[in-house]
Amino acid sequence: MRILIVEDEKQLADATAAILKKEQYFVDVVYDGQDGLDYALSDIYDLVLLDIMLPKINGIDVLKQVRAHGLSVPVMLLTARTEVGDKIRGLDAGADDYLTKPFNKGELLARVRALTRRKGDIPPNELAFGDVKLNQSTYELICGEEAVKLGGKEFKIMQMLMYAPKNIISKDEFIEKIWGYDTEAEYNSIEVYISFLRKKLGVIGSTVKIKASRGIGYYLEYTEA
Ligand code: CA
Repeated sequence: MRILIVEDEKQLADATAAILKKEQYFVDVVYDGQDGLDYALSDIYDLVLLDIMLPKINGIDVLKQVRAHGLSVPVMLLTARTEVGDKIRGLDAGADDYLTKPFNKGELLARVRALTRRKGDIPPNELAFGDVKLNQSTYELICGEEAVKLGGKEFKIMQMLMYAPKNIISKDEFIEKIWGYDTEAEYNSIEVYISFLRKKLGVIGSTVKIKASRGIGYYLEYTEA
């Protein structure tokens, strides 16, 4: 489990890193927004702790650029008590949570556990979005009383979409994560699996839609029936 801390208050950054390292997380620390963005885009992190007021690039812009690159890594903003507007802007920009400074060790670790669990070694059994659930043990896609079993690749595609339903996931990202780098898989393989998934969503009566963002990738959309 690898965590990136982007925080220009050096003492706070280093103290936070020390707490997390003691809990056996791997931690990298950077002290400005430009380094934060460069490190985050390496896509090796399971969680990013991101300060808002940062030198060079502010945290909100770092976050927007991370999301614009299609990365769904959980991001927890570190905010001062007075920065209420920033929290809202941060959540709108795709943050998963925020932690108000000063925070204590227990609060930090609880939030970190909650956010890393989504992506971590012990995933929760079910992911949920709109009216569908994805059972990660049985590979079943469930809507109300109806369920349908997904094939391995379908499951992984659905899982990636449900981890970060509102983010656009690029075809490259699907191919990299599901088939790996040295692969013969092509863009139309993704299209084929997406069409299978759309049919299965229809079969179980879900109103969740897999939307295509032309030339970029796919995301989930839910409109209540
Ligand atoms: Ca700061």
